[in-house]
Amino acid sequence: MKNLDIFNESKQYMPGGVNSPVRAFKDLTVNPPIIKKGMGAYIYDEEGNKYIDFVCAWGPMILGHSDKEVVKAIQDTCADAIAFGAPTELELKLAKHICSTVDNVDMVRMVNSGTEATMSAVKLARGYTGKDKIIKFAGCYHGHAEGFLVQAGSGVITAGIPGSAGVPKESIINTLIANYNDIDSVKQIFEKYGDDIACIIIEPVAGNMGVIPAEKEFLLEIRSLCDKYKSLLIFDEVMSGFRVAYKGAQSIYGITPDLITYAKIMGGGLPCGAYGGKKEIMEKLSPMGPVYQAGTMSGNPVVMAAGYATLTKLYNNPSLYEHMEKLCKKLEKGLLEIAKENGIPMVVNRCGSMITPFFTKKKEVKNFEDAKTCDAKIFSKYFEHMITNGINVAPSQFEATFLCVKHTQEDIERFLEVFKSFKY
Ligand SMILES: *Cc1c(COP(=O)(O)O)cnc(C)c1O
Repeated sequence: MKNLDIFNESKQYMPGGVNSPVRAFKDLTVNPPIIKKGMGAYIYDEEGNKYIDFVCAWGPMILGHSDKEVVKAIQDTCADAIAFGAPTELELKLAKHICSTVDNVDMVRMVNSGTEATMSAVKLARGYTGKDKIIKFAGCYHGHAEGFLVQAGSGVITAGIPGSAGVPKESIINTLIANYNDIDSVKQIFEKYGDDIACIIIEPVAGNMGVIPAEKEFLLEIRSLCDKYKSLLIFDEVMSGFRVAYKGAQSIYGITPDLITYAKIMGGGLPCGAYGGKKEIMEKLSPMGPVYQAGTMSGNPVVMAAGYATLTKLYNNPSLYEHMEKLCKKLEKGLLEIAKENGIPMVVNRCGSMITPFFTKKKEVKNFEDAKTCDAKIFSKYFEHMITNGINVAPSQFEATFLCVKHTQEDIERFLEVFKSFKY
């Protein structure tokens, strides 16, 4: 079947024809291709069109599509073990690997998505501190749990929804919103609600309002405010973990969060998530402690095997990060040069292998307000131009574009060549 026929029929059976909103290209001028196959840095649609993939499943496919070792780990495992709902050695392997290779994680709890990881980490922070309020930042996205759907990033902005219908006021009264990279906005909240704040949750390198790295000084001050008011600091590294560096954003900044959430890369492309941190806090989780959180599929053997194969390969080959960094830097430099030559108003933010070209006249993009100054019409034209020329980039201004280890110099040159012929 043709792409459009499949998409149209899908709309009869799945709302919008998709299982996650941003895939529907709702505010864009093209329809989504129906993807059939992926190999390395390339994906192919049902009509046989080839794309250089800079979405990489929104981050997880950092090793490229159908990595041989990951595929083998999945095949070998599922021949004997699909699901038991019982302890397995595979979950020990992955948990031990994570605890021994990243900092500040003594123990982890496996879950099935980033949403589950962040909502559970916040519940744990509340259970541990005995306080109810949380601080999140405008434009940061922490999944679709009710308490986070206030000024959230990612598809929540793209769809133009202020939050979401179906979220009772009661669910968000404990969510206090501060501005990213603006320490005064955080101080003001602490001055007013200091004794009631269980935690701050933040993407230390934001990716869901486009890429916006936090300023180091800002994160340091947040850390000391949390210490002063006995609130926990949660780094949501669902996107940045194992991406901006193997040890994540916390290693780049040298800041110690109390809890960290992971997903995306850590599942090797299968549904996965985890949250972890200090032993003293993690031991408050059921069955050891009073904070209840469970999951029929959590720690699924096939997922654990895919995650383990992915993380060990990344850990054992630091040069993979150097490769991606070098290529992404080349992309950043090239984009800026071309934008200047062609008179396109644009700011480029990058951290490691995550990058976003913001189509704005502003000089820099440091928070959600800045990101929202982008011209949606230019983005839409840019996106159509890129995808129709075989470059698959994130279909929203408020998302990151990702590199994987299989991208080559030629792939980046092709990206730039296509961008060069973009007229807005
Ligand atoms: C993707 C993402 C989530 C949500 O993860 P899902 O697996 O989609 O539920 C949460 N936080 C951040 C920072 C993310 O990038």
